[in-house]
Amino acid sequence: MPQHTAIIGGGLAGSEAARQLADRNERVTIFEMKPHRFSPAHTNPDLGELVCSNSFRSDDPLSAVGLLKEEMRSLDSLILEAADRTRIPAGKALAVDRERFAGIVSERLQEQRNVTIVRKEILGLDDPALTPFERVVFAAGPLAGESLTRSLQQQTGEDGLSFYDAIAPIVSADSIDQERVFWASRYDPESSDYLNCPLNKEEYERLRQALLHGKQARARDFESQTHFEGCLPVEVLAERGEMTLAFGPLKPVGLTDPRTGERPFAVVQLRAENKEKTMFNLVGFQTRLTHSAQKQIFRLIPGLENARFERLGSMHRNTFVHAPRVLTHDLELRKSPGVYLAGQITGVEGYVESAACGLWLGLYLAGKIQGLSLDLPPRDTALGGLLNHLQADTKNFQPMNVNFGLCPPLEVRAKKSRRKELYVHRARQAWQRWREEGRGNL
Ligand SMILES: Cc1cc2nc3c(=O)[nH]c(=O)nc-3n(C[C@H](O)[C@H](O)[C@H](O)COP(=O)(O)OP(=O)(O)OC[C@H]3O[C@@H](n4cnc5c(N)ncnc54)[C@H](O)[C@@H]3O)c2cc1C
Repeated sequence: MPQHTAIIGGGLAGSEAARQLADRNERVTIFEMKPHRFSPAHTNPDLGELVCSNSFRSDDPLSAVGLLKEEMRSLDSLILEAADRTRIPAGKALAVDRERFAGIVSERLQEQRNVTIVRKEILGLDDPALTPFERVVFAAGPLAGESLTRSLQQQTGEDGLSFYDAIAPIVSADSIDQERVFWASRYDPESSDYLNCPLNKEEYERLRQALLHGKQARARDFESQTHFEGCLPVEVLAERGEMTLAFGPLKPVGLTDPRTGERPFAVVQLRAENKEKTMFNLVGFQTRLTHSAQKQIFRLIPGLENARFERLGSMHRNTFVHAPRVLTHDLELRKSPGVYLAGQITGVEGYVESAACGLWLGLYLAGKIQGLSLDLPPRDTALGGLLNHLQADTKNFQPMNVNFGLCPPLEVRAKKSRRKELYVHRARQAWQRWREEGRGNL
């Protein structure tokens, strides 16, 4: 008798997980609270709803998100099948007709004989509706119902779950002008924990003025405009006074520029995102500025004139767990065996990444039920790099889009223009090996 899996949430991750399990003859029940209840961002009763943009970003295989799509297509992704069938012209981006897209995701799951769709809000991990199931996949997304979220928090502890996302931009290390920045921690010139971008008074004032006049993203109605004092957007600090930034996140105290032997007027600190130091975040630069304003304004910072942004800053409601602490490598809750997490709630960021996470979990669980143990894809691949982020050894865990900085650094030196090609070439070889050796096959 096939075992039975419950999936909470028929969004991008839940739909992908269901398809992978059902295709391998495993029975799945999806609990979806729409149309009885809608989160503040959802409006369409169909499964697989895109809550904001209608774009899955670049489809160029030389971009990390394009490569991730290539890997997902090779594993029969439902989300990409629906996206490809409802594609609308948008240059290199994969944009879709969102109504038709969600319609196809729903239809394909309704047709699957192993899938049952129940329209019901799950109120907690102890909801009696979950009792008959062998395992539960929690794929209720960043705006999961409040009662269910409280129940998850009982498993993760207060500090294992975040409700608010205040994220600072991340730049790739190889796009930072090393001639203009210096390594040092406050009071420790020998330390290489931080890269420091020194600003003189004019550069500081130019940056502040740009922050004051930068275009801000419109907040969704449900997003609170009030901010936590400890985590204010950089443009709000700029508004508070001429020197607020210079006494706050840009304070130069304890830092001496080795080129001048002096303390700069202000310093933007960049903190490494990973052990290999391939990516750095701009400390204290959480922001509500639009993406285009961020790119323009943050490139005014000395050393970041040609910065490549791996992630841009944002502030919005976003429920996600501290994955490295509360999840096992198999995305199972450490404190609640049999409950697995998928999608944005795990700490991946974005439509494609959420779907990819659900796809992997569905594939992995189908293998586990059938007595086969699948290895994670190698970290050289886009999917492997992304899933590895959920095990990152970091105190300040933050959601992350897929990017090449999540993969190990290249073994060879190469010009910037060739680096993407090399990442992709290495990833494709690793992916093929992984598939051929049967470690990703069922
Ligand atoms: C406002 C907002 C805008 C975003 N915009 C973008 C964007 O433009 N581009 C991008 O790439 N990413 C965006 N994201 C990030 C993210 O990629 C999406 O949220 C994505 O939909 C996450 O996929 P998911 O499957 O994890 O969750 P979702 O797609 O949200 O699916 C979760 C599903 O679970 C259901 N559900 C929730 N609670 C329960 C419950 N208790 N019982 C039963 N069902 C339940 C919901 O109704 C929903 O259908 C945005 C996020 C937010 C919050």
